[in-house]
Amino acid sequence: MMFDYTKTPKEYVHCNLCGKDDFFILAERSSNGYEARACLCKNCGLIYLNPRMTKEGYAAYYKDFYRKDRAEAKKDNKKYKHNSMEEGFLGSVRFGEVFSSRLKEHINPDGITIDVGSNSGGALQGFKNIFPGIIPIGIEPSDKHAEFANTQGIKTFRCLFEDFPRDEIGEASNIFCFHTLNHLLDPKGFFHWAYATLQMGGRLVLSVKNFRAQVKRSGTIKRAIQIDHPYMFTPENLRLMLVATGFQIVYEDNDELKLRNEWTRQHADGLSIHHIRVVAEKKEKKEQEIPISAPSAARVLKHQLSWWHVLPYYFVYHSGKMKYFRKIFRIGY
Ligand SMILES: [Zn+2]
Repeated sequence: MMFDYTKTPKEYVHCNLCGKDDFFILAERSSNGYEARACLCKNCGLIYLNPRMTKEGYAAYYKDFYRKDRAEAKKDNKKYKHNSMEEGFLGSVRFGEVFSSRLKEHINPDGITIDVGSNSGGALQGFKNIFPGIIPIGIEPSDKHAEFANTQGIKTFRCLFEDFPRDEIGEASNIFCFHTLNHLLDPKGFFHWAYATLQMGGRLVLSVKNFRAQVKRSGTIKRAIQIDHPYMFTPENLRLMLVATGFQIVYEDNDELKLRNEWTRQHADGLSIHHIRVVAEKKEKKEQEIPISAPSAARVLKHQLSWWHVLPYYFVYHSGKMKYFRKIFRIGY
């Protein structure tokens, strides 16, 4: 059975952050050639696929085609290799340990700690190694991964976050969402859910791919578009979404302006690169919801994603063509 993106049912969506339907078109195709239209909201700067596959379409895609599709998309990348579940678990344990050590003073050291999109449970195990007081709970839609996590002693619910039995579990002191936000069909709905699930002062901890960094690294917008990423974030639109849902940002780390040796170190430590790491605290909500509007930020972002801004950066830092030039002048080190 072959996956046919064109024939999969699609739906037209409005901006998930501000609700408007007014956008710049950034690209008409994804990195692996699917006809996917990426839009940038003119009012708030959120980037999203529109139209996109329906919920049922995504469910079928993840079940049968996703892994094969990603493997094909990455076939030119020599670093890509297929990991076993155990290897994946150990890699995530390392990630969890490094991540929690870095953010030590911004995470609640005990209480219920939920990881949304917890995979095989490795990241939670890593956090538990650093913060023995936490009670780790995973939420993972994949049968195989949820089952593996449970055999490793990480209590994991095989469901979507919307179906998680929140009332049985009680209020959480931390909620994690690592490398998952891009895949959600309603990220703002997830932030509302996280707000309702956390105790006051609870922390929402995110690691999200920075779309602008991804574009600069690949040289074109198209190469940064994936059909499994219905939403794409930058530090600006992520902040806006957090504040709009009642959170206050207490920590932010953006790899975008870091130098090459820092990336290398981060990568060797087991952390992702070209990401945004954010810790946000649940605060008392204000009486009125603030209307979301950031049209000038959206225009700035549109400019930052244009070829005359992206290509020089790409050639100097990422294409490999300027390697010797860079070495001589020590640019980016
Ligand atoms: Zn918007």
